[in-house]
Amino acid sequence: MIKVKAFGGYSKIGKSMTAIDIDGEIILTDMGADIEKLVNFEEDKNDITVNDLTALIDNGVIPDDRNFFLEDGKKVKAIVLTHGHLDHIWAVPFLSQKYKCPVIATPFTIKVIENLMKNFKVRSLKLVQLNTGTMYKISDSIKLELVNITHSIPNSSMIALHTKQGVIIYANDWKFDNTPTLGKKPDYERLEELRKEGIFLLISDSTNAEVDGYTFSESVVKIMLEDIIKKSLDNKTIFISTFSSHIARIKNIVEISRKMNRNVMIFGRSMDMYIKAAISTGVINRGTLPEVTVRREQINNALKYVAERPGKYVIICTGHQGEKGAFLDKLVTGQYQYRLSNEDAVIFSSRTIPTPVNEANKGMLKNALESLNVNVADNVHVSGHASKNDHKLLIKMLMPKHLIPSHGGIEKLSANIELAREFGYELNKNSYIILDGQEITFQ
Ligand SMILES: [Zn+2]
Repeated sequence: MIKVKAFGGYSKIGKSMTAIDIDGEIILTDMGADIEKLVNFEEDKNDITVNDLTALIDNGVIPDDRNFFLEDGKKVKAIVLTHGHLDHIWAVPFLSQKYKCPVIATPFTIKVIENLMKNFKVRSLKLVQLNTGTMYKISDSIKLELVNITHSIPNSSMIALHTKQGVIIYANDWKFDNTPTLGKKPDYERLEELRKEGIFLLISDSTNAEVDGYTFSESVVKIMLEDIIKKSLDNKTIFISTFSSHIARIKNIVEISRKMNRNVMIFGRSMDMYIKAAISTGVINRGTLPEVTVRREQINNALKYVAERPGKYVIICTGHQGEKGAFLDKLVTGQYQYRLSNEDAVIFSSRTIPTPVNEANKGMLKNALESLNVNVADNVHVSGHASKNDHKLLIKMLMPKHLIPSHGGIEKLSANIELAREFGYELNKNSYIILDGQEITFQ
């Protein structure tokens, strides 16, 4: 008997968590936060601690596993995480301890979790680093393997559970990047081999299942960035904001800037955290990137230095979603000693994550930049999520007996079901929609 229970990530993107019950032994995959709700929660309460557990659940910030824990908590054998994005791991320090089982992920993901634990002063978790391509015995009847995949953060993986019913693959989040700028290509060979073993079930990312075509490679953004930085070279300072966890992107910006004789500075606490995690796990070498400047006073001093040296610097910074209190917000609102003008450039190497708060914040930020006549470039970005044709490739590659789309709302899940129809998948026969709180049993 295999039972899949959806805790989060099936009714909307965020708060990913799934319980996979294999003949009475349960694996929890991902344990994330609803980022939008987390931001709201943080606005009301600055200093979150483990004592906020109940409030975090009641406010929908993290998955509600209370009833599940009472009934099935003892059956949980492992918590396995796919990658280090906070909508997949943020809840680990809050929820994982009580299960008394290992928390397993790739080295970079484990490092990010360690940092979260430090923030929330949680110590006693049993963290297990598992490299992609190696096997881990969870019990006599379940073996775990992480398969290398590309996304928008280093060390991303698909979870493969070897069971007597066949292989179960949990694929959140992924894209097929055949020319990644950091790390390896997806492990197609291994996926083909797993298919030969027989895939019982595929649970797969639906973020871009409504988007036609293929998702472009990170190499494409590298070319876009090179082009735009070149076009901005007569600007005094080029500010580039991107996702702090997107180490490949940050590394590319540094390489391009140096090639064009610009020095680089990186600002922001979250940049510092992810870059240190990348260095300590060997994702990048020490010295590849400049030291990150974190403290306000040091940032101010650095900006004064930069202002006196026009044409010499690229600044990589936080704030691309227009977040209040992030670097770009503080810069445009005059909280630093650097006055932006029509001689500066601001490049958003990101896409605005479509929530009302982000859209309002980003709108205000862009208006402020416009009123200062700053040269702005937006959406210099490609997604980390598979598009329609990529999904078709994965389904063709694996041909799972059953398919459950995840990581979306009902429209995105339905689009994933729809595109699988040409391979013989029919709703409620061998493909299924489950929403948060629902479960499905395969006898
Ligand atoms: Zn992700």
